[in-house]
Order: sequence, then structure tokens, then C-alpha cells
Amino acid sequence: MNYPTESRAIQRAINASRNTLVVSHANPDADAVAALLAFRGVFIGPTREITLALGEGTIPETLVFLKDLDTIEPFNAVDPDDYDLLVLLDCADEDRVGEHAGLVIRSLAGRVPVINIDHHVTNSRFGSINLIDADAAATCEILALLFEDLGVEIDASLATTLLTGIQGDTLGLRTPSTTGQTLDVSADLLRAGADLDRVVDYLFRIRPYSTLKLWAHALGATSFTGELIWTEITSQMLEDSGADESEAEGIVNFLAGTRGARAAALLYRKDDGWRVSMRSLSDEVDVSQLTSLFGGGGHSRAAGCSLTGGLELRNEFLETVASRIARDSAPVSVSG
Ligand code: AMP
Ligand code: MN
Ligand code: MN
Repeated sequence: MNYPTESRAIQRAINASRNTLVVSHANPDADAVAALLAFRGVFIGPTREITLALGEGTIPETLVFLKDLDTIEPFNAVDPDDYDLLVLLDCADEDRVGEHAGLVIRSLAGRVPVINIDHHVTNSRFGSINLIDADAAATCEILALLFEDLGVEIDASLATTLLTGIQGDTLGLRTPSTTGQTLDVSADLLRAGADLDRVVDYLFRIRPYSTLKLWAHALGATSFTGELIWTEITSQMLEDSGADESEAEGIVNFLAGTRGARAAALLYRKDDGWRVSMRSLSDEVDVSQLTSLFGGGGHSRAAGCSLTGGLELRNEFLETVASRIARDSAPVSVSG
């Protein structure tokens, strides 16, 4: 057994449920979406309804190939009174589901059991059952191990969905969060019939022309504050390029590879401020510590936060982050 205590507790809670609500984080990524679909695929049954719901943000266009994608509902269609079990996937805390969804979740959480399955170190263990594995590279990696514990038979379609989450969070098994276990689970999924070629095509190779235009705008606006490289996605850029916000995903990873930068930030302009996405390439800079200064969180190499305020706050963020980076790290080597 990979998770003996948790797997049994999860199975019991699901067996007792007739109407389960399964939720992931706002501005969903491949892992969030794939985890929802995999969970429903496995646990739906003749006497059990499973509703999948997401709050703010759009489902990335790259995920159109996933089976049953249209079973995910917008959160405003959800009536909390309908459910007897709540499951949160890939959410470090309850606020990650988004603003409106957060209210519904909190009212529901006081009344029904909550299963919390996640791989973020910063997870607040808010569930009545917590399956938190910070060594897993993706929530889909945890789900694959949970399904193994429960003796679930993984068919090709489920394997493709789970592999999508793992490939998404590891950028194609390239992040430092990728472990031997990640490779083992991926190998098992391939043997179960996962279509790796299709997953990689959709996640990493095929993109609409609007994405290129958005990237051109965003990269053109890049600048440095100290050793922080950053750029902004404005509504004007989205309009000019005909892209939606999810098409900017990947820009922050690309920026982080710039020589001379110790961390990268992508700032999405919102009506009341910014949503910030951060990355670093080295252990010297822990971006989850930087974003937590502004109420956010995440992993050491990938983290985020929200800034509610105007230009002054944005500049304070940039300056604070740049000075922390300068304070905490050795001088950049001039060679190479
Ligand atoms: P992203 O840049 O949106 O891909 O997010 C990178 C990582 O940071 C993810 O693992 C998120 O879970 C985490 N994260 C992003 N935004 C926030 C936030 N506002 N609060 C806490 N964690 C966040
Ligand atoms: Mn995620
Ligand atoms: Mn994840």
C-alpha cells in the first residue's frame, strides 16, 4: 500500500456518499483538470453522482483532447445543499478554489466530510481526511498511487488523463519535483495504454496563432528589477492578440531561464490589481517564501500570489522581491 491509512479512509468516505462534489483550484492547470476527470471516472457509480466544478479562470485550451472535459461545470451552477461529500484536489488551502467557490466550500465544509488530496508543501491540512504527499510531482501522481491501493483497473483513457496531469506539472518530466516515483508511475501509465504522444502534442507542441501574438507582446514588455525578470499581461494585449489568459501559461517558465535572472514573475492585470505567477531555476531562491510575503504560497520553484491595489503596490512587490533575492543569494557568476 502506498497510503494505507488514507486510502482506506477515502474509500470509506466515498462508499458512504451518494452525491459528491469535487473541486480544484481557480485558474486551473493540467493537473487540476486531469485530477478532477480521473476522480470522477473512477468513483462514479450507479448509486453515486459525482459533480466536478471549477471557479474563476478558463480551462486551458491545450486540454481540449481530454475525455469528458465537458462534465466540468462552472461553480455558479452548483447548489451546496445537494452534496454529502466534498473533495478538493490540488488545492493547498480552501481559498485556492476562488472567491465565490470559497464561500460555497466553507458552508459545505461545516456540514459534510472533506477529502483533501494535494502535493503542495504548504497544504494547510484543512480536510477531515488529508492525503498530502509533498514528494509527489502532481496530484495525478498521488491519484495513480491511490487507485493502485484501491485495486482500481486503469484503462488507456484513464491512464492518458493521469499522465496529462503529471506531464503538465513536471513540464514533461523536466522539473526538479520529478522523482524516481514520478517516472515509475508514468511508466505504469504508459504500460496501461496512456497516449504519451498525444499528451505531449497538445500540452507542449500545438498552439493557436493567438498564443504566439500574446507571447510577442508579453516578451516585448519584459524588464528587470534587480535580478527579477518580469512582464505583465494586460487586457489590451489579450484583446490585440485574441488570446485568453491561459495562453500566457509557460511565459514565466521561459523568462526564468534568462541568464542573469534569479527569479521570474508574470503579472496578470486584473480590475483590482494583479495575479502573480513566479518561478526560480535554483534552490537559492525560494519563490514560495517571496509570494508568502504577499499572502500567496506554492512550491520553492513555482509559486503565486494576488496583489490587490494599484501601481504603488505593484512596485513595492517588485522592489521587495528584488531586494530579498539580492539579500539571500550569492553574487551571480559572470562567467558562462
Ligand atoms: P502558477 O504560477 O499559477 O502555475 O502557480 C504556481 C504554483 O503556485 C502552483 O503550485 C500554485 O498552487 C501556487 N499558487 C499560485 N497562486 C497562489 C496563491 N495565490 N496562493 C497560494 N499558492 C498559489
Ligand atoms: Mn495545480
Ligand atoms: Mn499540481
